[in-house]
Amino acid sequence: MDGKKRRLIQFRVATVLGSSLIAALVAAVLWPPLTTVSAMLAVPRRPIRGIIPESPPPETCLICGAPVVRIDQITDDLAKPSRNIAVWNRSSCGNPLFGPGSVICVNDWYAHSARFKQWSLSLNDPAGFAIELDQRIRDLSLPEGSTIGSAVVYSQQINEQVEIHSVSLWCDTDENYLKQLEAKAIQSGLTVRIVRERLPGESTVLVEATNQRNAVTAQ
Ligand SMILES: [Zn+2]
Repeated sequence: MDGKKRRLIQFRVATVLGSSLIAALVAAVLWPPLTTVSAMLAVPRRPIRGIIPESPPPETCLICGAPVVRIDQITDDLAKPSRNIAVWNRSSCGNPLFGPGSVICVNDWYAHSARFKQWSLSLNDPAGFAIELDQRIRDLSLPEGSTIGSAVVYSQQINEQVEIHSVSLWCDTDENYLKQLEAKAIQSGLTVRIVRERLPGESTVLVEATNQRNAVTAQ
């Protein structure tokens, strides 16, 4: 092979290698975005908060079917007991759980939280609920009055599938009472959450009954 022919072959090889290198570089630059775009097209789109509007609030009450109103259209009447302690707890920090988009039924005062997508009613009176409070919660023996450190609050949290009925309170850290309560709650199929000594000498108690909604309404 003469020198001219060798140089020509070297030139062609270099050209092919160079073209391949350029093609590889172009592919490296182009392919990742293309695969990313493909992946984006393949992935189902999810609502992005603030860009795609969330589902509108319900127009009627899940419990009684009456039309609902926006919570910010209702004024809390401080001269009377709170209609719904979950909405108007009257603490200094207020309640941020029922912000814009939340609605309430003025018939039975169940409120729908736009944030949690569920209906809630909290009262001091266990007999004040349109849906009768779970008998196991009503039957729980509470501490002696003088040892209760707060108001006793009964609550219901409801969606289409599930109802949670509960009672919560602060009380003195009386181990005998707390152990009896735990035993009774577990025996009754209830969930009990006790935070002992949340403050010196005081504990918090939360007992919940969880029921499938069809089972509750069939009772
Ligand atoms: Zn209602």
